[in-house]
Amino acid sequence: MKTRIHPPTPTALDAKTRPDAVLEYWQQRPWQEQLANAVSCADELFDLLGLPKNAHPALRRFGLKAPHAFVAKMRRFDARDPLLLQTLPSAEEFAKTPGFGLDPLGESAHNPIKGLLHKYRSRVLITLTGACAVHCRYCFRRHFDYQSNAPKSDAQDAILRYIRQNPDVNEAILSGGDPLSVSNRRLFDWIDKLGQTPIKTIRLHTRLPVALPARVDDELVDFFARFGKKLVIVVHTNHPNEIDAATARAFLRLKASGATLLNQSVLLRGVNDDVDTLVRLSYALFDADVLPYYLHALDKVAGSAHFYVPPSEAARLYWALLERLPGYLAPKFVQEEPDKPHKTPVDIYKRR
Ligand SMILES: *Cc1c(COP(=O)(O)O)cnc(C)c1O
Ligand code: SF4
Repeated sequence: MKTRIHPPTPTALDAKTRPDAVLEYWQQRPWQEQLANAVSCADELFDLLGLPKNAHPALRRFGLKAPHAFVAKMRRFDARDPLLLQTLPSAEEFAKTPGFGLDPLGESAHNPIKGLLHKYRSRVLITLTGACAVHCRYCFRRHFDYQSNAPKSDAQDAILRYIRQNPDVNEAILSGGDPLSVSNRRLFDWIDKLGQTPIKTIRLHTRLPVALPARVDDELVDFFARFGKKLVIVVHTNHPNEIDAATARAFLRLKASGATLLNQSVLLRGVNDDVDTLVRLSYALFDADVLPYYLHALDKVAGSAHFYVPPSEAARLYWALLERLPGYLAPKFVQEEPDKPHKTPVDIYKRR
């Protein structure tokens, strides 16, 4: 009998001397292993990208995290790469900017039970986990207290009871963190139990098919295909370079399972704040069976001000986008306002 010999785990030196082999190696590994070994050291990231080592803040919380599959989509030798800018911690995050706070959405006021946000009448949002595969520097959840808010197993009963007692609720949104960063066992248990309540639709908000496409494994796709209720999957893609062959395949497989596939993006200075990029993003999504849903104006969370696109500029960009795209490929441009019972369309008329 032949034993299959695995290549040895790459070393720190390999990242510098043969970066392609290192990126290739990890992308062949099971997703759980890729997730556990995501790049968390900026020096390794610089080596993989052929960039000079640079000063970067070491963060105790919400530090650098990017799976090799995501790093593989960054351009080498380019310190302004749009995917790199989304993941590399920068000194600008420590800037104190008026108007950028810790809980910009006022979410703590809509948190009836642990792990559950009920802000919009017909849907509840369950923060299944605080974990994500990639740490996006602009993320509005970076200051959210997940440790005390991630639903423990005993919270599941309370959440299911809450849903049954609120007949207005017809949709449960699994969010986080990222709901696909938990095991299939845990995820399927939640979806099965939510499926037994009267709600009609289960929705997942996830960046995993982008950050770690191998996460979309056979077991997941088979489970979705067998699930008896409406399933909506909102992926999170900000730049067309995030959609490589593996991610496109993951999107297509999710779509083929019968789910409705939508995308949300965040408008980010230096990343996707130009019309060509946003047009290319919409078409790349469409090629992979995903329809643009939302383009979000940045939530004003402390540490993200350097990604902010001023309203007048954002409005000009959005009008130009409408000029270039068919209606079904133009995302709705929205912002989140505390205490509003819906996402709010950005007022692009006043600022024309
Ligand atoms: C964004 C969000 C939703 C979903 O809103 P849709 O407009 O249906 O996509 C639900 N609950 C909360 C708390 C949200 O932030
Ligand atoms: S994957 Fe989503 S929740 Fe997680 S850090 Fe990125 S934007 Fe935030």
